[in-house]
Amino acid sequence: MIYPIVLYGDNVLREKCTEIKMGDLDIKSLVNDMFETMTDADGIGLAAPQIGISKKLFVVDGSSLEDEEMSSFKKVFINPVLNNEDGDLWEFEEGCLSIPNIRGGVKRKSSIEITFFDENWNKKTEVFKGIQARVIQHEYDHIEGILFTDHLSPLKKRLIKNKLISISKGSISVDFLMKFPKKIRR
Ligand code: ZN
Repeated sequence: MIYPIVLYGDNVLREKCTEIKMGDLDIKSLVNDMFETMTDADGIGLAAPQIGISKKLFVVDGSSLEDEEMSSFKKVFINPVLNNEDGDLWEFEEGCLSIPNIRGGVKRKSSIEITFFDENWNKKTEVFKGIQARVIQHEYDHIEGILFTDHLSPLKKRLIKNKLISISKGSISVDFLMKFPKKIRR
């Protein structure tokens, strides 16, 4: 099942997500739906709040990319905890399915160590570097209620301000299913 993707301006994107207890949710079907939703929207990462579910869960799938590092990168992260970020800061142009048509350079550290459960509830601690780390850092931010636009320079923030307002008012067109923020009633 393909979920509508929640867009910038919806409060669910600003909430700190809660932990998932084993048996709480039908995690396998939710994960399948998230992969399906993400693929439909041509994304490489999707966090549960982006489909309106405020839970600590995200999925990544780089198999649509030609990049060697990313093409075999398909994973599920349940209740992830970022233990450590290390290495040099490097800038990369990020985008987000919840913030269509906006990109911006974000500086993040190049290596992370993260503890999480996979879709079979196996607990893992793994180290990721480079672009894989980058995708995880972006998705991890989502479950903390942080968006990539929060990391942009003050100048860039000013430049995209009106675009963000447009998205939150629903004045945007994308070719995947989306869920607009509730209109503010006066
Ligand atoms: Zn995102």
